[in-house]
Formats: sequence, C-alpha cells, structure tokens
Amino acid sequence: MRLILKHVSSGYIEEVLKDISFEAEAGDFIGIIGPNGSGKTTLLRTIAKILMPKRGVIYVDGKNVAEMSVRELAKIIAVVPQNFQTNFDFKVEDVVLMGRTPHLGRFELESERDFEITLKAMRTVGCESLIGRSIGELSGGELQKVIIARALAQEPKILLLDEPTAHLDINHQIEIMNLLRKLADSGVLVIAVIHDVNLALQFCSKLILMKDGKIVAIGKPEEVVEAIRDVFDIDVIVRKNPITGKFYVLPVKLEKVGNSKIHIICGGGSGAKLMLKLERGSVGVLNILDTDWEVANSLGFEIISEAPFSPISDEAHERNLKLIEKAETVILADIPFGYGNLKNLEAALYASDLGKLIVIDRTPIEKRDFTNGRAKELYCRLKGKFVKNEDEAISSL
Ligand code: ADP
Repeated sequence: MRLILKHVSSGYIEEVLKDISFEAEAGDFIGIIGPNGSGKTTLLRTIAKILMPKRGVIYVDGKNVAEMSVRELAKIIAVVPQNFQTNFDFKVEDVVLMGRTPHLGRFELESERDFEITLKAMRTVGCESLIGRSIGELSGGELQKVIIARALAQEPKILLLDEPTAHLDINHQIEIMNLLRKLADSGVLVIAVIHDVNLALQFCSKLILMKDGKIVAIGKPEEVVEAIRDVFDIDVIVRKNPITGKFYVLPVKLEKVGNSKIHIICGGGSGAKLMLKLERGSVGVLNILDTDWEVANSLGFEIISEAPFSPISDEAHERNLKLIEKAETVILADIPFGYGNLKNLEAALYASDLGKLIVIDRTPIEKRDFTNGRAKELYCRLKGKFVKNEDEAISSL
C-alpha cells in the first residue's frame, strides 16, 4: 500500500493547503502536527476525499483517488472523525458493524463473516467487553475505542484519525497510541492528527509538521524535532529521554526578563516558575534529581549541585557563595528548611548582607522551619525586598 500526494492544493472557499507533496506506505504511523489552523484536519479530509483537491493528484496504490468511487475508496480508507455524534442510541456492536457497510451489496445483509470481522475488530481494540452497552453511556475513552473498532471493521489499508486522543486522560492516550502503533506494525498505514507534540514524538514513526497550509518538515521524529522550535509560537526546548532514547519538547512560554544576572536559591519545584520566566541565570545549591535541578538542567541554568538526598557540603556552599557574589540579584524562593539545606539560608543571608536579596515570603517561616527554630532565627535576620509571589519578584527586577 502506497499513498502519494503530488502538489495537492485544497481548502474551502479559501485555499488552505498549498502544494502538498509526500509519500507514505504500509507500516508507517504518521503524526500530523502543527499549530491550530495550520491545515491538519484539512489535509486529513483531503486524503479521505471529503474535500476534493483544487490542484494536484492523490494516488492510492497507483490509482488516482479522484477516479475512484466512494464505495471503492471506503474499502481502502477508514476515517475516525474528531467528534462522533449520533441521534440514535445504538448498541456498541451495531456501531462497529456499520464499518462493514462498504463491503455489502446494496440490499445485502451482513453475513457470518461480517460478524466475525466485527468481533475481531473489537478484540483488536479491546472493547469486546462493551458488547450490549449503549454508546450513549460510554466514557470518552470507551467511545473512542468503539469508533476505532468500527473503522477497523472496514478492513482499511489506510486509517485516518483526527485527534484520536483529544479529551482522553493520559492512560487512555497512551493506550490508543500503542494500539495505533500496533496497527501500523501489522501493515496498516496509520495517519493521525495529533495535538500533543510529545505524544506524537513518542509513538509515531514519522511526523508531518505543518504551518500555514504547508509542510514545513517531514521525517522521523529526530529529523523534524528541531523544526518544531521554529513552527510553534512558543519557545520549546528539545531534549532526549535518556531511558527511552525518544525526544520530547519542553515548552518555555512566558516573557523573558532582560540580561540581569540572577541567582535563585530554591528546591523541590519552588524555583521552576522563576526559572521559566528568566532568560538565564544560576541556581544553587540543589540536590541532583530535585525537581528544580531537573528544570534548571533542561533550561541550561548554571547549577551548583549536591549529590541526591545529601546535605549541602561546605564545598558546594562555597561555590554557591561565589555565584552569589557574581549575581546582580539573588532570589530566595518559598522553600522549607531542614538541616540538610540550612546552608542555603546562610547563603541568602550572605546575599542580604551584599544588598541584593529578594525574598519570596508566601508561607510563614514558622510553617517551613524544620530545624527547631534555627531557620527562623536566620530568616529574621534577612534584609532585602520581601514579596508575596514569583510575579512580584520578577516585576521588581
Ligand atoms: P488545523 O486542523 O490545523 O487546526 P484546519 O485544517 O482545521 O486546521 O483549518 C485550516 C484553515 O481552514 C483555518 O484557517 C480554518 O479556519 C479553515 N477552515 C477549516 N474548516 C473550514 C470550513 N469548513 N470552511 C471554511 N474554512 C475552514
């Protein structure tokens, strides 16, 4: 099975897709990604012949789609739409059986074979336990499986899906993506519009990245991942998961604050929001694998690190003080203090003596002092600008 698009333009009154060309074949699991309005759904509709190309040609196994009948095409291409709606409360098995329609003659009733194929489709998707239920009473994830089963009952060579995981919780998203991956492995060409870039990067074998009705990049995830940065309006950081070897992106929205050199004393995620808002800076002391350490690491902040789950050593503390000397401003995040990180409070006191401290003073120190009053004593000696939250801290820079 081979799908070929050659210089396809398509759309509604206005042209949306402009000069789209690509080839795909059985076994591919292609994710179409791109910002809203970039033409992803229009591309899917054009391949399904719901929209006719204004220019260009689409071939399925060498046949020009424009010359194929709806029934002929429905034996090859099945579509899972974004919203499945029906006014009638069908039983699950009846909905799946509808997938057989293109294979039946005009007045032909379903045969034993059609029922077998229907059951097989439900088993493949894992929804046979829903037999007998009305589709109106299904959860979003269950309904999505039933609609995919209906598409599979069509025995398609090409399966098109428009945001099959939208509105599903993460477990169901992964389940559906795994299922699509398996279908592709079994020889179906799967093409899906995927809203979540990271989901697409994890599961698809190929990605089509769209912007303004054009294909900006096409290829394996690792081949298009850099282009993602340019296409979305938000900044993203591209990282490789060291365990799976797959890429993922970390969106870094938010306005960036100037060039001032800022050092953050934080931990346990208390500094993440600050780091995301800053162009660059340094942090310390953080234990390796602490949430803030991970964020700082992904954002390329300079980090004074300590071994995981270990108290701050004198050596790390000294290095932290050096960074504080170099910084223009030091922000102390709203962190709890134990004996393990009390040195970070001493470091804040040092910054306070240097006249460059901002303190995020949201939680009363009594509630986050786990040192029998030692932290409170140090904290009360802090001088500087006390603010209530991260936004205030940023705007006072
Ligand atoms: P995406 O799926 O990437 O969000 P779409 O393919 O849905 O993008 O839309 C691309 C463009 O086509 C948008 O500008 C949208 O407004 C327009 N569009 C989508 N559907 C229709 C329609 N039925 N009639 C007219 N214009 C449409």
